[in-house]
Amino acid sequence: MTGGEQSLSDSKRVVIKIGSALLAHDDGRLRADWLDALARDVAALRETGAEIMIVSSGAIAVGRRLLGLARGPRNRVLRLEESQAAAAAGQVRLAHAWQDTLARYDVPVAQILLTIEDTEDRRRHLNARSTIATLLRLGVVPVINENDTVATEEIRFGDNDRLAARVAQMMGADTCVILSDIDGLYTADPGRNGDAAHVSHVEAITPEIEAMAGETAGEDGSGGMITKIEAARVALQAGCRLVITDGRESHPLDALAKGAQATWFVSQGEPQSARKRWIAGSLKPVGTIVVDDGAARALSRGNSLLPAGVTAVEGSFERGDPVVVQDGTGRELARGLVAYGSEDARRIQGRQSGEIESFLGYRGREEMIHRDDLVES
Ligand code: GLU
Repeated sequence: MTGGEQSLSDSKRVVIKIGSALLAHDDGRLRADWLDALARDVAALRETGAEIMIVSSGAIAVGRRLLGLARGPRNRVLRLEESQAAAAAGQVRLAHAWQDTLARYDVPVAQILLTIEDTEDRRRHLNARSTIATLLRLGVVPVINENDTVATEEIRFGDNDRLAARVAQMMGADTCVILSDIDGLYTADPGRNGDAAHVSHVEAITPEIEAMAGETAGEDGSGGMITKIEAARVALQAGCRLVITDGRESHPLDALAKGAQATWFVSQGEPQSARKRWIAGSLKPVGTIVVDDGAARALSRGNSLLPAGVTAVEGSFERGDPVVVQDGTGRELARGLVAYGSEDARRIQGRQSGEIESFLGYRGREEMIHRDDLVES
Protein backbone atom coordinates (compact mmCIF):
# COMPACT_ATOMS: atom_id res chain seq x y z
CA MET A 1 0.00 0.00 0.00
CA THR A 2 1.30 3.47 -0.76
CA GLY A 3 0.51 6.82 0.78
CA GLY A 4 -1.07 7.87 -2.49
CA GLU A 5 -4.21 5.96 -1.60
CA GLN A 6 -4.88 8.37 1.23
CA SER A 7 -6.86 11.43 0.33
CA LEU A 8 -7.73 14.64 2.10
CA SER A 9 -11.09 14.69 0.42
CA ASP A 10 -12.62 12.04 2.69
CA SER A 11 -11.68 13.96 5.87
CA LYS A 12 -14.53 15.03 8.12
CA ARG A 13 -12.65 16.81 10.88
CA VAL A 14 -9.17 18.14 10.18
CA VAL A 15 -6.43 19.87 12.16
CA ILE A 16 -3.96 21.83 10.03
CA LYS A 17 -0.68 22.82 11.68
CA ILE A 18 1.26 25.65 10.11
CA GLY A 19 4.81 26.45 11.14
CA SER A 20 6.31 29.91 11.65
CA ALA A 21 8.63 29.58 8.65
CA LEU A 22 5.64 29.24 6.33
CA LEU A 23 3.71 32.16 7.75
CA ALA A 24 6.45 34.72 8.17
CA HIS A 25 9.48 35.87 6.20
CA ASP A 26 12.84 35.75 7.97
CA ASP A 27 12.41 39.37 9.00
CA GLY A 28 9.04 38.65 10.64
CA ARG A 29 6.76 40.09 7.95
CA LEU A 30 3.77 37.91 7.21
CA ARG A 31 3.69 36.08 3.88
CA ALA A 32 0.38 37.64 2.88
CA ASP A 33 0.07 36.03 -0.57
CA TRP A 34 0.80 32.58 0.78
CA LEU A 35 -1.76 33.10 3.54
CA ASP A 36 -4.35 34.24 1.03
CA ALA A 37 -3.80 31.12 -1.08
CA LEU A 38 -4.07 28.95 2.00
CA ALA A 39 -7.33 30.63 2.98
CA ARG A 40 -8.68 29.71 -0.45
CA ASP A 41 -7.65 26.09 0.14
CA VAL A 42 -9.34 26.12 3.56
CA ALA A 43 -12.55 27.48 2.06
CA ALA A 44 -12.45 24.80 -0.64
CA LEU A 45 -11.90 22.04 1.91
CA ARG A 46 -14.86 23.34 3.90
CA GLU A 47 -16.95 23.09 0.76
CA THR A 48 -16.41 19.32 0.89
CA GLY A 49 -18.11 19.34 4.30
CA ALA A 50 -14.96 19.07 6.44
CA GLU A 51 -14.69 20.85 9.79
CA ILE A 52 -11.33 22.60 10.08
CA MET A 53 -9.15 23.69 12.96
CA ILE A 54 -5.92 25.61 12.31
CA VAL A 55 -2.98 25.37 14.70
CA SER A 56 -0.92 28.40 13.77
CA SER A 57 2.59 29.21 14.94
CA GLY A 58 4.24 32.49 14.12
CA ALA A 59 3.41 34.69 17.10
CA ILE A 60 7.01 34.93 18.24
CA ALA A 61 8.42 35.28 14.71
CA VAL A 62 6.04 38.17 13.98
CA GLY A 63 6.25 39.72 17.45
CA ARG A 64 10.06 39.92 17.52
CA ARG A 65 9.91 42.29 14.62
CA LEU A 66 7.13 44.39 16.13
CA LEU A 67 9.09 44.80 19.36
CA GLY A 68 12.45 45.47 17.75
CA LEU A 69 13.82 42.12 18.86
CA ALA A 70 14.40 41.28 15.21
CA ARG A 71 17.00 38.96 13.82
CA GLY A 72 19.83 40.26 11.65
CA PRO A 73 22.95 41.38 13.47
CA ARG A 74 21.10 41.03 16.75
CA ASN A 75 19.97 37.56 15.86
CA ARG A 76 20.20 35.88 19.18
CA VAL A 77 18.14 33.44 21.14
CA LEU A 78 15.51 35.34 23.08
CA ARG A 79 15.20 35.07 26.83
CA LEU A 80 11.99 33.40 27.97
CA GLU A 81 10.33 36.67 28.97
CA GLU A 82 11.33 38.25 25.66
CA SER A 83 9.79 35.33 23.77
CA GLN A 84 6.66 35.74 25.82
CA ALA A 85 6.51 39.47 25.16
CA ALA A 86 7.10 38.83 21.44
CA ALA A 87 4.32 36.22 21.45
CA ALA A 88 1.94 38.64 23.16
CA ALA A 89 2.55 41.31 20.53
CA GLY A 90 2.73 38.91 17.59
CA GLN A 91 -0.38 36.93 18.45
CA VAL A 92 -2.65 39.94 17.96
CA ARG A 93 -1.17 40.63 14.54
CA LEU A 94 -1.33 36.95 13.62
CA ALA A 95 -4.96 36.53 14.68
CA HIS A 96 -5.86 39.66 12.80
CA ALA A 97 -4.19 38.34 9.64
CA TRP A 98 -6.10 35.06 9.91
CA GLN A 99 -9.36 36.87 10.52
CA ASP A 100 -8.92 39.29 7.61
CA THR A 101 -7.67 36.72 5.16
CA LEU A 102 -10.27 34.05 5.87
CA ALA A 103 -13.04 36.68 5.88
CA ARG A 104 -12.31 37.26 2.18
CA TYR A 105 -13.60 33.73 1.62
CA ASP A 106 -16.50 34.08 4.09
CA VAL A 107 -14.85 31.89 6.69
CA PRO A 108 -15.43 33.13 10.26
CA VAL A 109 -12.59 32.51 12.73
CA ALA A 110 -12.16 32.45 16.50
CA GLN A 111 -8.94 32.51 18.48
CA ILE A 112 -8.15 29.78 20.99
CA LEU A 113 -4.98 29.93 23.08
CA LEU A 114 -4.17 26.71 24.90
CA THR A 115 -1.44 25.34 27.04
CA ILE A 116 -0.42 21.74 26.52
CA GLU A 117 -1.91 21.05 29.98
CA ASP A 118 -5.31 22.21 28.72
CA THR A 119 -5.28 19.28 26.36
CA GLU A 120 -3.78 16.75 28.75
CA ASP A 121 -5.65 17.52 31.97
CA ARG A 122 -9.14 16.01 31.94
CA ARG A 123 -10.87 18.89 33.72
CA ARG A 124 -9.49 21.60 31.47
CA HIS A 125 -9.80 19.27 28.51
CA LEU A 126 -13.60 19.20 28.90
CA ASN A 127 -13.76 23.00 28.80
CA ALA A 128 -11.52 23.41 25.78
CA ARG A 129 -13.24 20.54 24.01
CA SER A 130 -16.76 21.85 24.41
CA THR A 131 -15.79 25.39 23.37
CA ILE A 132 -14.06 24.18 20.22
CA ALA A 133 -16.92 21.74 19.47
CA THR A 134 -19.39 24.62 19.76
CA LEU A 135 -17.33 26.76 17.38
CA LEU A 136 -17.22 23.92 14.84
CA ARG A 137 -20.96 23.43 15.14
CA LEU A 138 -21.42 27.14 14.44
CA GLY A 139 -19.33 26.86 11.29
CA VAL A 140 -16.34 28.76 12.69
CA VAL A 141 -12.69 27.84 12.08
CA PRO A 142 -10.81 27.93 15.39
CA VAL A 143 -7.30 29.34 15.01
CA ILE A 144 -5.31 27.81 17.82
CA ASN A 145 -1.88 28.56 19.23
CA GLU A 146 -0.09 27.78 22.42
CA ASN A 147 -0.74 30.40 25.09
CA ASP A 148 2.93 31.34 25.09
CA THR A 149 2.58 34.31 27.42
CA VAL A 150 1.52 32.13 30.35
CA ALA A 151 3.42 28.97 29.45
CA THR A 152 5.55 28.31 32.49
CA GLU A 153 8.13 26.14 30.80
CA GLU A 154 10.56 27.27 28.18
CA ILE A 155 8.68 27.84 24.92
CA ARG A 156 10.04 25.18 22.65
CA PHE A 157 9.90 25.24 18.90
CA GLY A 158 8.05 22.15 17.87
CA ASP A 159 5.51 22.45 20.65
CA ASN A 160 2.86 23.22 18.08
CA ASP A 161 3.43 19.83 16.44
CA ARG A 162 2.55 18.29 19.80
CA LEU A 163 -0.26 20.77 20.32
CA ALA A 164 -1.78 19.94 16.92
CA ALA A 165 -1.78 16.22 17.68
CA ARG A 166 -3.28 16.85 21.12
CA VAL A 167 -6.02 19.01 19.62
CA ALA A 168 -6.71 16.27 17.06
CA GLN A 169 -6.94 13.73 19.87
CA MET A 170 -9.12 15.95 22.07
CA MET A 171 -11.52 16.78 19.24
CA GLY A 172 -11.68 13.31 17.69
CA ALA A 173 -10.28 14.61 14.38
CA ASP A 174 -9.73 12.03 11.65
CA THR A 175 -6.82 13.87 9.97
CA CYS A 176 -3.97 16.05 11.20
CA VAL A 177 -2.00 17.85 8.47
CA ILE A 178 1.47 19.15 9.33
CA LEU A 179 2.60 21.71 6.78
CA SER A 180 6.38 21.70 6.92
CA ASP A 181 9.32 22.70 4.75
CA ILE A 182 9.99 19.10 3.80
CA ASP A 183 7.63 16.69 2.11
CA GLY A 184 7.80 14.09 4.83
CA LEU A 185 10.06 11.42 6.22
CA TYR A 186 13.15 10.06 4.49
CA THR A 187 15.17 6.95 5.26
CA ALA A 188 18.19 9.25 5.74
CA ASP A 189 18.93 12.97 5.45
CA PRO A 190 18.21 13.70 1.76
CA GLY A 191 20.54 16.71 1.84
CA ARG A 192 23.55 14.60 2.77
CA ASN A 193 22.72 11.18 1.44
CA GLY A 194 21.90 10.61 -2.22
CA ASP A 195 20.39 7.21 -1.42
CA ALA A 196 17.82 8.65 0.99
CA ALA A 197 14.39 7.40 -0.02
CA HIS A 198 11.08 9.07 0.69
CA VAL A 199 8.71 7.15 2.95
CA SER A 200 5.10 7.61 1.88
CA HIS A 201 3.23 5.36 4.27
CA VAL A 202 3.78 4.50 7.93
CA GLU A 203 1.48 2.34 10.04
CA ALA A 204 3.39 2.23 13.32
CA ILE A 205 6.09 4.30 14.96
CA THR A 206 8.79 1.64 15.20
CA PRO A 207 12.37 2.22 16.43
CA GLU A 208 13.36 2.11 12.75
CA ILE A 209 11.02 5.02 11.96
CA GLU A 210 12.36 6.94 14.96
CA ALA A 211 15.90 6.42 13.71
CA MET A 212 14.93 7.77 10.28
CA ALA A 213 13.39 10.85 11.92
CA GLY A 214 16.68 11.51 13.72
CA GLU A 215 18.38 11.53 10.32
CA THR A 216 15.88 13.75 8.47
CA ALA A 217 17.00 17.36 8.63
CA GLY A 218 14.94 19.63 10.84
CA GLU A 219 13.15 22.60 9.42
CA ASP A 220 14.20 26.11 10.18
CA GLY A 221 12.67 27.50 13.35
CA SER A 222 10.68 24.46 14.23
CA GLY A 223 10.95 21.17 15.95
CA GLY A 224 12.33 19.07 13.13
CA MET A 225 11.19 15.58 12.28
CA ILE A 226 11.50 14.14 15.78
CA THR A 227 8.72 16.25 17.26
CA LYS A 228 6.58 15.44 14.22
CA ILE A 229 7.06 11.73 14.82
CA GLU A 230 6.05 12.25 18.44
CA ALA A 231 2.96 14.09 17.19
CA ALA A 232 2.25 11.18 14.83
CA ARG A 233 2.45 8.77 17.74
CA VAL A 234 -0.18 10.75 19.69
CA ALA A 235 -2.42 11.04 16.62
CA LEU A 236 -2.22 7.34 15.74
CA GLN A 237 -3.09 6.35 19.29
CA ALA A 238 -6.14 8.58 18.99
CA GLY A 239 -7.24 6.87 15.77
CA CYS A 240 -6.29 9.94 13.71
CA ARG A 241 -4.07 9.81 10.63
CA LEU A 242 -1.31 12.41 10.35
CA VAL A 243 0.30 13.64 7.17
CA ILE A 244 3.50 15.65 6.76
CA THR A 245 3.85 17.57 3.53
CA ASP A 246 5.79 20.51 2.14
CA GLY A 247 3.75 23.66 2.66
CA ARG A 248 6.14 26.25 1.24
CA GLU A 249 4.53 26.67 -2.18
CA SER A 250 1.13 28.29 -2.52
CA HIS A 251 -1.98 26.12 -2.18
CA PRO A 252 -0.42 23.24 -0.22
CA LEU A 253 -3.79 21.73 0.78
CA ASP A 254 -4.97 21.72 -2.79
CA ALA A 255 -1.68 20.07 -3.78
CA LEU A 256 -2.13 17.46 -1.06
CA ALA A 257 -5.68 16.74 -2.20
CA LYS A 258 -4.27 16.19 -5.68
CA GLY A 259 -1.74 13.67 -4.42
CA ALA A 260 1.38 15.74 -3.64
CA GLN A 261 4.27 13.78 -2.15
CA ALA A 262 3.83 13.38 1.59
CA THR A 263 4.27 10.93 4.44
CA TRP A 264 0.96 9.56 5.68
CA PHE A 265 0.92 8.00 9.13
CA VAL A 266 -2.14 5.86 8.94
CA SER A 267 -4.14 4.74 11.92
CA GLN A 268 -5.87 1.39 12.10
CA GLY A 269 -8.60 2.59 14.46
CA GLU A 270 -11.34 5.20 14.41
CA PRO A 271 -11.03 8.43 16.45
CA GLN A 272 -14.28 7.86 18.28
CA SER A 273 -13.45 4.28 19.31
CA ALA A 274 -9.93 5.29 20.40
CA ARG A 275 -11.37 7.95 22.72
CA LYS A 276 -13.93 5.53 24.09
CA ARG A 277 -11.23 2.91 24.70
CA TRP A 278 -9.34 5.54 26.65
CA ILE A 279 -12.37 6.36 28.79
CA ALA A 280 -13.36 2.71 29.31
CA GLY A 281 -9.95 1.19 29.74
CA SER A 282 -7.23 3.50 30.94
CA LEU A 283 -8.94 5.58 33.58
CA LYS A 284 -9.66 4.48 37.12
CA PRO A 285 -13.18 5.50 38.17
CA VAL A 286 -13.32 7.63 41.32
CA GLY A 287 -17.08 7.71 41.92
CA THR A 288 -20.42 6.22 41.05
CA ILE A 289 -23.60 7.70 39.64
CA VAL A 290 -26.79 5.69 40.16
CA VAL A 291 -29.54 6.19 37.60
CA ASP A 292 -33.23 5.30 37.24
CA ASP A 293 -34.69 2.96 34.62
CA GLY A 294 -35.59 5.78 32.22
CA ALA A 295 -32.00 7.02 32.18
CA ALA A 296 -30.72 3.44 31.81
CA ARG A 297 -32.86 3.06 28.69
CA ALA A 298 -31.69 6.42 27.34
CA LEU A 299 -28.06 5.35 27.85
CA SER A 300 -28.59 2.08 26.00
CA ARG A 301 -29.90 4.12 23.06
CA GLY A 302 -26.65 6.11 23.06
CA ASN A 303 -28.00 9.29 24.66
CA SER A 304 -26.32 11.57 27.18
CA LEU A 305 -27.01 11.16 30.89
CA LEU A 306 -29.12 14.05 32.18
CA PRO A 307 -29.32 15.12 35.85
CA ALA A 308 -33.04 14.22 35.89
CA GLY A 309 -32.29 10.50 35.69
CA VAL A 310 -29.73 10.46 38.52
CA THR A 311 -30.94 8.97 41.84
CA ALA A 312 -27.68 8.93 43.83
CA VAL A 313 -24.11 10.22 43.65
CA GLU A 314 -21.45 8.22 45.50
CA GLY A 315 -17.88 9.20 46.23
CA SER A 316 -16.03 12.44 45.99
CA PHE A 317 -14.89 13.59 42.58
CA GLU A 318 -14.30 16.65 40.47
CA ARG A 319 -15.54 17.75 37.11
CA GLY A 320 -13.89 15.70 34.36
CA ASP A 321 -13.20 12.71 36.59
CA PRO A 322 -14.02 9.20 35.38
CA VAL A 323 -17.07 7.64 37.06
CA VAL A 324 -19.09 4.43 36.84
CA VAL A 325 -22.80 4.64 36.00
CA GLN A 326 -24.95 1.98 37.73
CA ASP A 327 -28.62 1.06 37.80
CA GLY A 328 -30.55 0.71 41.07
CA THR A 329 -29.47 -2.94 41.46
CA GLY A 330 -25.77 -2.05 41.34
CA ARG A 331 -25.22 -3.31 37.80
CA GLU A 332 -22.62 -1.29 35.87
CA LEU A 333 -24.14 0.29 32.77
CA ALA A 334 -21.44 2.63 31.56
CA ARG A 335 -18.34 4.66 32.34
CA GLY A 336 -17.78 8.28 31.53
CA LEU A 337 -16.24 11.65 32.30
CA VAL A 338 -18.63 13.55 34.53
CA ALA A 339 -19.43 17.20 33.80
CA TYR A 340 -19.96 18.15 37.48
CA GLY A 341 -18.00 17.66 40.67
CA SER A 342 -19.70 15.38 43.23
CA GLU A 343 -21.08 18.21 45.40
CA ASP A 344 -22.76 19.97 42.51
CA ALA A 345 -23.87 16.63 41.05
CA ARG A 346 -25.73 15.89 44.32
CA ARG A 347 -27.37 19.32 44.23
CA ILE A 348 -28.81 18.77 40.78
CA GLN A 349 -29.56 15.03 40.85
CA GLY A 350 -33.17 14.35 39.87
CA ARG A 351 -33.57 17.92 38.55
CA GLN A 352 -34.54 19.03 35.08
CA SER A 353 -31.67 20.56 33.07
CA GLY A 354 -33.52 23.91 33.03
CA GLU A 355 -33.41 24.05 36.84
CA ILE A 356 -29.63 23.69 37.12
CA GLU A 357 -28.96 27.41 37.38
CA SER A 358 -31.36 27.93 40.27
CA PHE A 359 -29.67 25.15 42.28
CA LEU A 360 -26.06 25.97 41.50
CA GLY A 361 -26.14 29.70 40.92
CA TYR A 362 -24.49 29.29 37.54
CA ARG A 363 -25.60 27.95 34.23
CA GLY A 364 -23.82 24.62 33.92
CA ARG A 365 -23.93 21.99 31.22
CA GLU A 366 -27.24 20.33 30.41
CA GLU A 367 -25.78 16.85 30.69
CA MET A 368 -24.38 15.11 33.75
CA ILE A 369 -22.28 13.08 31.30
CA HIS A 370 -22.24 14.01 27.63
CA ARG A 371 -22.65 11.06 25.27
CA ASP A 372 -19.24 11.73 23.68
CA ASP A 373 -17.75 11.18 27.13
CA LEU A 374 -19.77 8.04 27.87
CA VAL A 375 -19.01 4.39 27.04
CA GLU A 376 -21.45 1.55 27.62
CA SER A 377 -20.03 -1.28 29.75
N1 GLU B 1 3.77 29.10 19.70
C1 GLU B 1 4.92 29.55 18.99
C2 GLU B 1 4.60 30.82 18.19
O1 GLU B 1 3.48 31.03 17.84
C3 GLU B 1 5.47 28.53 18.00
C4 GLU B 1 5.76 27.16 18.53
C5 GLU B 1 6.12 26.19 17.39
O2 GLU B 1 6.39 26.61 16.28
O3 GLU B 1 6.11 24.99 17.62
O4 GLU B 1 5.43 31.59 17.88
